[in-house]
Amino acid sequence: MREFDLIVIGGGSGGIACARRAAALGANVALVEMGRLGGTCVLRGCVPKKLLMYAGRIGIELAQAGAWGWEVGASHFDMAAWQASKRLELNRLEGIYEGMLQRSGVHCIRGRARLAAADQVQVDGEMLRAPRIVVATGARPHPFGDATTRPLATSDELLDWSTLPRRVGILGAGYIGVEFASMLRALGVDTTLIYRSDLPLRGFDRSLRERAVTALESAEVRCVPNARIELANTTRVDVNGESLAFDTVVNATGRIPNTDHLGLAQAGVELDARGAVVVDRFSRSRVPSVFAIGDVTDQKSLTPVAIAQGRALVDNEFTGTARTVDHESVASAVFCIPPMASIGITEEAVAGRGGVKVFEAEFRPMKTAFAGGTQKTYMKLLVGTRTDKILGIHMLGDDAPEIIQSLAVAFGMGATKADFDRTLAVHPTAAEEFVLMREPARSV
Ligand code: NAP
Repeated sequence: MREFDLIVIGGGSGGIACARRAAALGANVALVEMGRLGGTCVLRGCVPKKLLMYAGRIGIELAQAGAWGWEVGASHFDMAAWQASKRLELNRLEGIYEGMLQRSGVHCIRGRARLAAADQVQVDGEMLRAPRIVVATGARPHPFGDATTRPLATSDELLDWSTLPRRVGILGAGYIGVEFASMLRALGVDTTLIYRSDLPLRGFDRSLRERAVTALESAEVRCVPNARIELANTTRVDVNGESLAFDTVVNATGRIPNTDHLGLAQAGVELDARGAVVVDRFSRSRVPSVFAIGDVTDQKSLTPVAIAQGRALVDNEFTGTARTVDHESVASAVFCIPPMASIGITEEAVAGRGGVKVFEAEFRPMKTAFAGGTQKTYMKLLVGTRTDKILGIHMLGDDAPEIIQSLAVAFGMGATKADFDRTLAVHPTAAEEFVLMREPARSV
C-alpha cells in the first residue's frame, strides 16, 4: 500500500491544477490517469476546437481578401493537413503538462482507478491510500438514440477526422452544436443544425441567441428549431415528419459525468440522477474524505471553474481557508463565427421586475463594412436602476470573448455605469462602444 496526502483521480485541467497546488504546499500527491494527460479541454475540447475555428476563420478571410486588394488563387481546406498539425500541437501540450507535473513532484500513476474504500484507491493491481481523494474524471458525450442504433459521431470523433463529410446534420444547439455548426460551415461543409427549442444556446441572453441564428443563417447553416427528432440511422434523421439525409449526423446533445466503474456509490458517495457527484460549495461529497471538482459534478462545466475549484479545495484542506468558487459571476464564451460572450444576468432573468436599464449598441464593424459584409456586432449592458451597478454584459461579434474577459475584471469589482461612462474610449475599436452607451434602449 502506497501512502499519500492526496490522491487525484483524473489528469484533466482541474485534476492537474489541484495536484500541482497541493504539491506546491508540500503535500505528497498522486495523480491517477488512465489515458493521456490534458483531459477534455486540451485533448477533445477547448484547444482543438479553437484550432479548428481558426482554420474556419482563415477560410472566411481568404474569401474576403479580394475586397482588401489581395489577389488570391484557388484555395481548398485539407483536413488531413490540419489534423497532422493538431496532433503535433496536442503532443506538445501534453509534454508540457507531463513536465509541469514532474517538476512539481506529483507522482503520476497510469491506470484505471477505483475507490476501494473511503481512503483507498485501487489502480489496476496496486493499492494507494490517502486521507483525501479528489474525483476529477470529467464528462463524456451523452448517447443519443436507443441501444439498437449505432452510436453517432460526437465532437470527440469530429476533431479526429482526416476528411470532411459533404453534408453534416448536428443534433443539439448548445455550446458544442453551435460552435461546430459554425466551424464546419466555414470549412465548406453543408451544415444543418437541428434543435428542440425555439432558439439555440439556452441560458444565454435572448438578444444574443436570436442574433446567433441570424449569423448562422447568413453563413448558410440551415437552422431547424422546435425539432421533434427521431433518429432513423447514423445518416438519416426524421425531424417533425421530414426525413433529412446526411453523410454524417453529429450528436451534440450534451455530456454526462464519468462516474461509471469508479466504485463511488459503493463507498457511500452520493450521485445524482445523471450520475454526477453531489458536492457542497467546498467540493465535498457526502463522504468526508472524498471530494469532486469539474465536469464530474455537473455544475458549471468550464475549464477555469474546474481549476478554481481544485485550487480552492486544496487551499481549504491544507492551509485552513474556507474558499468557494462563485458560479454566478463566471464569464463564458461560445466560439462560433463571429463569437459571443457573456457575464452576469440576462434580460429575461430580470424582465418585469422594473429595476434594470438596458443599454444596447448594434453596428457593422469597420472591417465587415469595408469588405461589403452584412454581419453586425451587438452589445448589451444591463444596469441596476437604483444602484447604477453593471449586472450583465453581453456581446456577439469579433473578439467578444477577449473583450468580455477584460470587462469581467470590472464586473467582478462591482463597476457602475458611471465607471464605464468615465472611461475614455480606445479608438477605433469595437470595444469602445461599451463605454459610449449614453441612453438606455428600455427599462425592464
Ligand atoms: P449543452 O450546452 O448542454 O447543449 C446540449 C444541447 O442538446 C442543447 O441544445 C439541448 O437542448 C440539446 N439536447 C439535450 N438533450 C436532448 C434531447 N434528448 N433531444 C434533443 N436535444 C437535446 O451541451 P454541450 O454543447 O454538449 O456542452 C457541454 C458542456 O460543455 C456545456 O454545458 C459547457 O459548459 C461546456 N462547453 C463549453 C464550451 C465553451 O466554453 N466555449 C464549449 C463546449 C462545451 P435544450 O437547450 O433544449 O435543453
